[in-house]
This record gives sequence, C-alpha cells and structure tokens, in this order.
Amino acid sequence: MSKQYAVIGLGRFGSSLAQSLTQEDNEVLGIDINEERIEENREAVRHGVIADSTDEQAMKSLGIRNFDVVIVAIGDNMQASILSVVVLKELGVKHIVAKALSKHHGLILSKVGADDVVYPERDMGQRIAQKLMSPSIIEFIKLSDEYSIEEVRISANITGKSLIELDIRARFNVNVIAVRYSNNSVKISPEPDYRLKEDDVLVVIGKNDDLKELEKFNA
Ligand code: ADP
Repeated sequence: MSKQYAVIGLGRFGSSLAQSLTQEDNEVLGIDINEERIEENREAVRHGVIADSTDEQAMKSLGIRNFDVVIVAIGDNMQASILSVVVLKELGVKHIVAKALSKHHGLILSKVGADDVVYPERDMGQRIAQKLMSPSIIEFIKLSDEYSIEEVRISANITGKSLIELDIRARFNVNVIAVRYSNNSVKISPEPDYRLKEDDVLVVIGKNDDLKELEKFNA
C-alpha cells in the first residue's frame, strides 16, 4: 500500500522530492507558505495547500499527524525549519525527515525531534565529485566507511573475458553480485563462465580500497 507523505517547502529540493513521490503513485500533500510555489507545482504534485508550518494550529487542522512521513524541506530559513520540526514533534508526527544546510543545523534538527536528517547539497557534491574522478562508476552505495557497492561500466580491457578468467574475487578481493546487460535486465550471481559483453555493467561489492584497485585495472 502506498504511503502518505507531506512535503513542507516546495523549493527546488522539496518540489523535486514531492514530484518524484507523486510519480511513484504515493499520496503527497505539498505545503508552502508561498502561494506561487503551490501554483507552480499544481500539476506535478496535485494536492497543495498554503500554510505556515511553524503555526501549530494550521498544522493540526491539516491533520498532519496522520501522514506516514512528513518532510521539512525548508532551506534558507533555518529558524522556520527548526520551529517546524518542533511543532510536528509536538503534534505527534510519526516520522519526520528534515533537510539541513550544515552540520550544526542538522544537529539541532535531530535534537528537537527529526528522525532523519538529510543533507542533499553535501551528498550531491560528493556524488558528483565521485563521478568526475571515476567516470566508469555509474552508481555507488556506501555501506560503511569501509565497504561500498558499485556499478562499474566495463572497459575494452575486460570485454570478452569470462568472470573466471578475470578472477576478480581472488585478484581484488571484490565480489561480483550481478551483471546488468545493455537491455537493463539484471542477472544476479552470474555464472563464472559468463563472458562479459560490451556495455555490460558489473555490480560489485568490496572494500573501498579494493574497489579502487579494480577501477584502475578496468580503466
Ligand atoms: P531550495 O534550496 O530547496 O530551493 P528554498 O529555501 O529556496 O529551498 O525553499 C524553501 C521553501 O520553503 C520556499 O518555497 C518557502 O516559501 C517555503 N517555506 C519557508 N518557510 C516556510 C514555512 N514556515 N512554512 C511553509 N513553507 C515555508
């Protein structure tokens, strides 16, 4: 069953989030103090109301505590973002996600009751830096400071070789968990004798340092 989300603050981040959640068939209510923002998102977000999220009475009358997740996507106005989390917590919202601009801002948001704090600008900067440094990495998921999962676009060096010939596990201490073919279908735990084709993508898991060695070899 789809969840009910409320997104407070339809700036660049909030509106993109609300649109994506709507596209995936969730019930989404967009809330903004500024009427123009509600109008701009009318088609993509469908349900929108003009309201001030620091106003406890206004939030109460929207039934904000009945939403499964409420996201505070207010950016520049730090005071309003912190106060909004206080109000939502006070009203008993089950799951509050809040966007922070800085570490200090994030710390305060957690202290006043945000269950999750997100740092979209910081995270996006890191992802783009990673992409610039390693163009063959399509996607990566950091599992811990030590381990990651990466999707690696294979180079001409590797094309045509079988997984057993490459022997990635023994040489790099990295495990191949899947191959994504050019038609986007995915083969989990591919057979060792599978020969890699041009445009295949390897999904690998390992220590960050070991993954870097594999990247150099694949370059
Ligand atoms: P971004 O950096 O993601 O574009 P902005 O700070 O520009 O974020 O946008 C934040 C949005 O939050 C704006 O549309 C603004 O009108 C809205 N906003 C600010 N304060 C409140 C509030 N108290 N209640 C509801 N919406 C608010």
